[in-house]
Amino acid sequence: KDFTTDQEVRWCPGCGDYAVLSAFQGFMPEAGIKRENTVIISGIGCSSRFPYYVDSYGMHSIHGRAPAIATGVATSRPDLGVWVVTGDGDALSIGGNHLIHALRRNVNFTILLFNNRIYGLTKGQYSPTSEIGKITKSTPYGSLDNPFNPLSLALGAEATFVARTVDSDRKHLTAMLKAAAEHRGASFIEIYQNCPIFNDDAFAAVKEKDTKAEAIIPLVDGEPILFGIDNRLGVIRDQQTGELKVAEVAEVGLENIVVHDEHHPDPAYAFGLSRLTTPGVLERAPIGIFRSVDAPAYDDLAREQVAAAAEKYDSDDDALQQMINGRDTWTVD
Ligand code: SF4
Repeated sequence: KDFTTDQEVRWCPGCGDYAVLSAFQGFMPEAGIKRENTVIISGIGCSSRFPYYVDSYGMHSIHGRAPAIATGVATSRPDLGVWVVTGDGDALSIGGNHLIHALRRNVNFTILLFNNRIYGLTKGQYSPTSEIGKITKSTPYGSLDNPFNPLSLALGAEATFVARTVDSDRKHLTAMLKAAAEHRGASFIEIYQNCPIFNDDAFAAVKEKDTKAEAIIPLVDGEPILFGIDNRLGVIRDQQTGELKVAEVAEVGLENIVVHDEHHPDPAYAFGLSRLTTPGVLERAPIGIFRSVDAPAYDDLAREQVAAAAEKYDSDDDALQQMINGRDTWTVD
């Protein structure tokens, strides 16, 4: 059975959320994932209505706290595939702390961050990813805040799987969902999502046909990072500073173009890629898997620890028994 429900979908016409929902509902059965083994946990915001529209277990939870609740679910129910659905306001403002700690702990779940650079549900206030100077209802003279780059933040927390995709590119979106679902540990996907009501064309250059080739930097593991019309542009490492930057291939030579390595052990490499985003200059952005490395998952470690402690408790370990039984005899001087 597919993952569609009989719930009335209550997003605005044209909202990018529809495309993500459709890709998700299509991908899950194709990947052989069962509804009864799936739970989707969201916070507050337009995207956080997602669990209503997927026929699986779900929880529309507390603002910004979905990663904390999902940590509990992932730790106690290893039989469930856990997904967190959140937005740029929910995840990066009130939920910023929960997000970075879930990522550094490497909890085994997938976080889908719908980034539309605005608060949609509360009708158009600037968000932690709104660009400087953004005019909104809450910033009538323009936003003064330096925006978060969600991928830089995730990579700064050394997340083990980090990717970016676009709502309107179903094939790419599905490929990112599949790769994230197969990853053991915390997976983080930023989805560029259009909000036609309060921030239309939030990522216009990444979507429009005539500028797309110049705007999207496709990341393919093991391939040189080339883009632009006729692959005229590429990513090189600056010899002096070590920074990754964009250059004309004709000027620097194909042999100097960086070959993408999503398994690079140092998160600094993927962090450098995340900084290639150039707001205001055609809105260039790498799309694909930035980082995918193996590391122990928090919930696996926690279950192992609990099992070891239980085994010890069942044994005749005098020290442990004394520690547990001694609780009743504690005294306060
Ligand atoms: Fe989508 Fe924006 Fe409407 Fe929210 S306000 S449902 S993000 S179009």
